[in-house]
Amino acid sequence: MNKLGAHQSIEGGYTKALDRIKKIGGNCLQIFSTSPRGWNFSKIDTVQIIQFIEAKGIHKIDPIYFHASYLINLAKRDKIGSLSKLSLISELTVASKLNIKGSIVHLGSFKQKTDNQTLFEENKSQYDDLSLNVKEILDKTPDNTLFIIENAGNRKVGKDLTEIAYIIKRISNKRVKVCLDTCHLHSAGYDITSPQKLDNFLLSFDRLIGLKKIEVIHVNDSRDPFNSGRDRHENIGSGTIGHRTFRLLLNHPKTRHFPFIIETPGFDQKGPDKKNLDVLKSLTDN
Ligand SMILES: [Zn+2]
Repeated sequence: MNKLGAHQSIEGGYTKALDRIKKIGGNCLQIFSTSPRGWNFSKIDTVQIIQFIEAKGIHKIDPIYFHASYLINLAKRDKIGSLSKLSLISELTVASKLNIKGSIVHLGSFKQKTDNQTLFEENKSQYDDLSLNVKEILDKTPDNTLFIIENAGNRKVGKDLTEIAYIIKRISNKRVKVCLDTCHLHSAGYDITSPQKLDNFLLSFDRLIGLKKIEVIHVNDSRDPFNSGRDRHENIGSGTIGHRTFRLLLNHPKTRHFPFIIETPGFDQKGPDKKNLDVLKSLTDN
C-alpha cells in the first residue's frame, strides 16, 4: 500500500492534525511546528508529547514531517540567517521529542539570480556559507532527525538540482535528505510526464544526488505551464501535470515506496482534502 498523506493544520494543537489526516484517509502527514509566517518557536509540554505519540500510534500515522517556516533563508549571513538557524534548531529539537522524522526546508535565496550555470560557478562561496549554516543546525540538533531539502520551482536555491547536489556534498551528513515536489520540478523544467522521461529523470537524479537521498515526495499539480519558473500548486489532475504523471510516480518501482504528501489548494479551496487523496488512491495499482 502506498504511503499517502497531506499537509494539515495544527490549529488546536498537534494532536488535532492527526485527527484531521485520519478523517481524510491519509496515513502520513506534514505539519508546521508553529505559524509559518512569523518567527515563533514551538512550545510543548510533556503531556502534549505523550498525547501526540499515543495518538500517532493509535491512528497509525507514519511518517510525519514538519514543513519549516516560509521565512527561513539559510543563504543569508545577516539577522535573517541567524533567526533561520535558531528556528530550525528549535524545530528539530521538538521533532525529536514527538517522533517526527524531520523538517522539510526551502533553503532560501541569494541576492543575485542563480539560475544559470556561470553564476552558479561564480558564486560557489555563497553555497559554501549556506552549507556551513546547515552543518551548524545539524551539530546542534538530535541525531534522529532529518534535514530535508525541498527542490524549488522559482528563483530560489534548489531550483536546479545541481545546486542541491553541491550543497549535499559540502554538508556530507547522512541526516540530509531531499524532498521532491512535482509542481516545482515541472516549473523548473524537469520533465517526468512519460514513462521514458520519468526513467531518464530518475537515472540522472541517481547519478547527480542518489535516489537513496530521496525521503519524501510532494505531489502537487501545477497551475502554470512547463518550465515557467512559476510554482503555484493545483489540485491533482486539474493542472498542467495531469493524472498520467501521478499514476507513473505512484507505481514506478523506484518511487512507489516513498511517502507522497499533497499540498494542494483543495477542491473547495480549504487546503489539502479527501478528494485529492481519493484521486491519488484511484491512480495506484495496488
Ligand atoms: Zn512542496
